[in-house]
Amino acid sequence: MSWSSLSVEQRAAALEPLAMRLADRAEDLAELIHQENGKPRSEAMSMEVVTSVRLARWCCAQAPVVLGPRSVRLPMAPHRRVRIHRRPYGHVLVISPWNIPLYIPLSQVLAALLAGNRVTLKPSELTPRCGDAIGELLADLLPPDTLRIVQGDGAVGASLIEARPDRVCFTGSVGTGRKVMAACAAHPVHVTLELGGIDALIVRADADLELASSAVAWGATFNGGQACCSVERLLAHSSIIEPLLARIEAKLRRIGPSTDLGPAIDQRQLGVWRTHVADARERGLQVTGGEELEGRRMAPVLVHGVGTEASRAWTEESFGPIVAALPFESDEQARALHDATDFGLTASVFTGDLAAGEALASSLRAGSVAVNEVAATVYGHPELPWGGVDGSGFGRSHGQEGMVENTWTQVVDLPRMGVEPKPPWYYPYDDEQERAFASLSRALARPGFRRAGRAATALARFVSRRPRL
Ligand code: NAD
Repeated sequence: MSWSSLSVEQRAAALEPLAMRLADRAEDLAELIHQENGKPRSEAMSMEVVTSVRLARWCCAQAPVVLGPRSVRLPMAPHRRVRIHRRPYGHVLVISPWNIPLYIPLSQVLAALLAGNRVTLKPSELTPRCGDAIGELLADLLPPDTLRIVQGDGAVGASLIEARPDRVCFTGSVGTGRKVMAACAAHPVHVTLELGGIDALIVRADADLELASSAVAWGATFNGGQACCSVERLLAHSSIIEPLLARIEAKLRRIGPSTDLGPAIDQRQLGVWRTHVADARERGLQVTGGEELEGRRMAPVLVHGVGTEASRAWTEESFGPIVAALPFESDEQARALHDATDFGLTASVFTGDLAAGEALASSLRAGSVAVNEVAATVYGHPELPWGGVDGSGFGRSHGQEGMVENTWTQVVDLPRMGVEPKPPWYYPYDDEQERAFASLSRALARPGFRRAGRAATALARFVSRRPRL
């Protein structure tokens, strides 16, 4: 039996052992991620392995609930019985980055598989062994040829799109995302784009500065700052910005360069960090940190001062341990400064007033916003849909939305009873038929399914007395 012809319950049952496998191999997987990507082992364990275990468990439990068929009643046709099905696209291509080399591809591969698709995964050329590990974990749980791991660089990714999969799920930079979307448009095939961000953390005047400063220190530097959802911009109320920056500076200095801080993935990425730091210095901004450390690491950087809003650290994705800060006077100004970018992935609000925090959070143009927590943590919860708006891409992975994204929707419209009268909208058209539909319009305008249903049944009886063509 092919994978797609199994029921969603059967597919979930087949993939059920994955969570335990991941847990049994937890130490090996964390070590592999550490070796290949460079991030601290403890970070690999907390942010990729634990989250993958939870993801596998949640996805297998939820897939039958989310992807099963549902029935819909039609007020205009109560004699019909409609089922809505989620059908797999067929062949899904997942293209992944190197920065979260286990959890990102695994979450997208798993959602596509549970929906009944065949999957090709092209991991980043910088983390091929993590991609192979996903193949090994899943191989014997699936029929042959259901999951393929294809290694290679961007040219290989482009050729895989040329081969015309039925859907592409891409995670990576905005520049590559544009090329991927253009290539998908040529066929066309369905595409999800999970792109970059220059995410902001907003600190209101009533915030707990101890908590907020720790959140900035961690949120801007975990994974060496190489996360789409890193805190790259800090917006602080002018009345507390000085003491807040002093605390952040002190905490950034205490981050262990070899124990806590991940290295730049390669020289090119280190080059971007250098450029952003040099640009801030040339503009005469206050820059702390930025010293180059052993093993492609950089001491975490804090940029602030008059003119910060024009700096590259503020306007471009650094994808490094760099945070730039600006003051604001009101929530409205904070919102405007937050939204004045092409990106919209995550944002965080720190405040002692939860109602005001929720109001500000809800008004921001970002896919996920957290109050008194770094919004990057949203990514670790498989229950929550993940994705951005504007330049950060579109579509969702994770959550029910991420599962549904791997399916196309089919409506199957059936007769409720064996013998169907000819419907009232068939020919011939005449005044009597028109009047009958006019009274149906008036019945449908009033709330209440029953009233509309009765009117539609009456119409069907009435018109079917007159022979239809
Ligand atoms: P990248 O765009 O350089 O590469 C991503 C993947 O695309 C790699 O596998 C690469 O080989 C492939 N690729 C490159 N050119 C291609 C082409 N023409 N056609 C098809 N595939 C091609 O990104 P990266 O450096 O690996 O990752 C960093 C970027 O990813 C950052 O911008 C970061 O913000 C973003 N990111 C976003 C999310 C998210 O969920 N929104 C998560 C992680 C990373």
